[in-house]
Amino acid sequence: MTDQRAIDTSHPPDARGLSGDEATRRLLDHGPNELPAPQAEPGWRKIIRQFRSPLIYILLAALAIDTIAWFLAEAEGVPFEAVAIALILLGNAGLGVWQERKAEEALSKLGALTVPMAWVYRDGVLVQMPTRDLVPGDVLRVSPGDRIPADGELQSTDPVRLDASVLTGESVPIDKIHGDELPAGTLLVQGEAVVTVTRTGAGSAMGRLAELLGTVQTDLTPLGKRLQRFGNRVARWVLALAVALVAFGIWTEGVERLPTVVLFAVALAVAAVPEGLPAVLTVTLALGVERMARRQAVVRRLDAVEALGSVTVIATDKTGTLTENRMEVQEIDSPDRDACLRAMALVNDADPESEHGDPTEVALRKQAARLLGSLDALTELPRVGGRPFDPAWKFMRVTVREGQALRSYFKGAPEEVLSRCRTTDAERTSWAEKIRAHASEGHRVIGFATGDGEAEEQLTWLGLAVLWDPPRPEVPEAVRRTVAAGIRIIMITGDHPETALGIARKVGIGGDRVVTGSEVDRASPEQLREEVRHTSVFGRVTPEHKLRIVEALQASGEVVAVTGDGINDAPALRRADIGVAMGQRGSDVSREAADLVLLDDNFASIVAAIEEGRSIYANIQKFIRFLFSTNLSEIVVVVFGLVAAFALDLRDSAGALLLPLTAVQLLWINLVSDGAPALALGMDRNPAVLELPPRDPGLPLLDRASIQFILPTGVFKGAIALGVLWYLPRVGYGTEVARTAAFTFLAAGQLLFAYPARHIDLRPLTNPWLHAAVFAGILMQFSILWLAPFRHMLDAVALPWPIVLGILVAMVGAWGVAELTTRWLHHHWTQPAGSPRVP
Ligand code: ATP
Repeated sequence: MTDQRAIDTSHPPDARGLSGDEATRRLLDHGPNELPAPQAEPGWRKIIRQFRSPLIYILLAALAIDTIAWFLAEAEGVPFEAVAIALILLGNAGLGVWQERKAEEALSKLGALTVPMAWVYRDGVLVQMPTRDLVPGDVLRVSPGDRIPADGELQSTDPVRLDASVLTGESVPIDKIHGDELPAGTLLVQGEAVVTVTRTGAGSAMGRLAELLGTVQTDLTPLGKRLQRFGNRVARWVLALAVALVAFGIWTEGVERLPTVVLFAVALAVAAVPEGLPAVLTVTLALGVERMARRQAVVRRLDAVEALGSVTVIATDKTGTLTENRMEVQEIDSPDRDACLRAMALVNDADPESEHGDPTEVALRKQAARLLGSLDALTELPRVGGRPFDPAWKFMRVTVREGQALRSYFKGAPEEVLSRCRTTDAERTSWAEKIRAHASEGHRVIGFATGDGEAEEQLTWLGLAVLWDPPRPEVPEAVRRTVAAGIRIIMITGDHPETALGIARKVGIGGDRVVTGSEVDRASPEQLREEVRHTSVFGRVTPEHKLRIVEALQASGEVVAVTGDGINDAPALRRADIGVAMGQRGSDVSREAADLVLLDDNFASIVAAIEEGRSIYANIQKFIRFLFSTNLSEIVVVVFGLVAAFALDLRDSAGALLLPLTAVQLLWINLVSDGAPALALGMDRNPAVLELPPRDPGLPLLDRASIQFILPTGVFKGAIALGVLWYLPRVGYGTEVARTAAFTFLAAGQLLFAYPARHIDLRPLTNPWLHAAVFAGILMQFSILWLAPFRHMLDAVALPWPIVLGILVAMVGAWGVAELTTRWLHHHWTQPAGSPRVP
């Protein structure tokens, strides 16, 4: 695929690139710049995987024993029980595969939202396009912090620095000069690179590029792991209990009753475990993150969803997140305006036509072009050297050849540039005062200087450019909602402290104190911990300071979300509980390190993500309450029912000990009737979720309020079912009718409990899915009693009308009691001790 004969790498650095037609032709020839898609897992393997769970093994064993028993009984009649278990197992596997597919689809959509992009010259214009469309011969612009998207050759004259650790494991950056090879997947750490692509796709050193940037990690989340561990533990206990029960059953009932005894043991196992939970959890998470993506926040690691609900502090940068990053030069304050304008245009890597590059530079260059007329004469000056901008030194130098002499131009943080200039004390004080005055209005102020040769001291001061970057209009409201949600906001910016304070005031972050990077340097860890408790604005900080601030916040118990876009922000993003990268202006490394990517770079989207994260967690808690309350009622019925049957020697028509509910009936409740409402609970919308304080990450999933719900409602429902089992035979109905009535009450009545389960601490919006799931479930439950095959499968009998009516009354009554319980809980529900309530 990588035919190099057609490749023309003779473009000069300022080459205008391939034509669109030529690129299309080459794309057809060479194929896209991506690795071949990995083989999808075959369907049969997916189905088999669904059976790999301890509980399913128990059910399979039951199925085998049931079938063998049927054979031993000379295959008489239809083995309804075995068929039912088999059908339910198959149905469950089918549902599992469907849900996995749904989750995969949702996540792959997320991946597609953050596809890696590159800046390419096409038809002479710099445009941004997905890296998969690159072809050999393309001329690229790569900025620091971005990965080299295809193998290429460095065309620019300025040397650049490359981190090739992805390929070599060596983390010390290496210098590359004009003509050197830049392998795909390596990271540009310093300097702007113009690169001509030599090889693309599988032919390049593509390495892990696509994987690093595009994929969403779908490992089991901590929540999923906790649930899995919990499930395994329950399964082990249940298995032990089941074995004991089987032994007991054989002892009392004899070996010939083995199949019945085994089925009972299975019934107990089934009753105790919420089989539908893992699948509901996966789909809820996947649909939740899809919703989050629609609100411009793309999750890269699913466990971020949980952490989002616990965030107590958002440490945000200013430029582009709180502000629009739409810079505009408002004033030039200079003793030599033309020289200042020349510096504005020369110390500049931006491409104003395509707006590629730093928005500050784009604005400066545009203004210089407007005031100077044309920049052609300037851009033709050969650049012979320079020093790229870095937040560590806060300025940038470009050295050009002017005639025979070399001349350097500087631009940067004004106090930094000023400190390198030859000025009198009086001049210095006067300029410092001007800088402060402009900055305190929230303006961004940039200083300029020039000097002979390549010296960086004893420069000539050229003056200031005053820029305005308006706060995003939606930010003040987002700030207000964040504070109402018990979350503190801290601004951490590399900009001037006064600018930082000015913008902080405008968006409502407030505070009249600002701590600078050098103060952070001087503070001991204890002092810094104290400082971060009271300070909301940090100015003139470097990414290293940011990391220290995050660590100090975490040391004082905060759960921190941190934004970052630059190449050096990766450590702080990794360290944070939630690292937030920017989809538009962020560098590739920052995105790789992040848990969350904001597609629109907007602070308001972090708040939306927190809202969704909290909402997803709340929904998970709701269906866990709902499902566990069912399990508890089933355990109550099975255990007490069996004890009673044993004590009173209740037997069915075949003489076997009467099971209060059969395994098939329990499986039906857990997998068929409960599944849809649980899923619908996962789709609840909870606008009030931002009015609650952040969740203490140490709190268990089954918190006090949930247990207070599960215990009374589970026991109550179980007690009613037991009452039905006890009462009906007493008034002349057969045991089969009693059992069907108890089953119907549990299966249908349980559905109504989805309502109280959802509003213990929240008032969610009306959820039509839930109404539909509950209504359809109840309808289905009653209709199957009239369908003979279902009746057989579920060991049920037709119910007389008065009993149907009685069940309906009992259902509504139980629902009413559950509503009263939750109302009482809601009234008395205070935040459990230990959870932070931030003022
Ligand atoms: P934020 O941290 O909110 O993104 P910032 O862009 O001001 O804000 P840094 O990138 O750390 O933060 O920049 C620090 C300072 O260096 C800026 O305030 C500005 O004065 C100066 N500066 C920023 N970009 C450049 C550049 N490309 N060339 C020269 N100086 C720059």
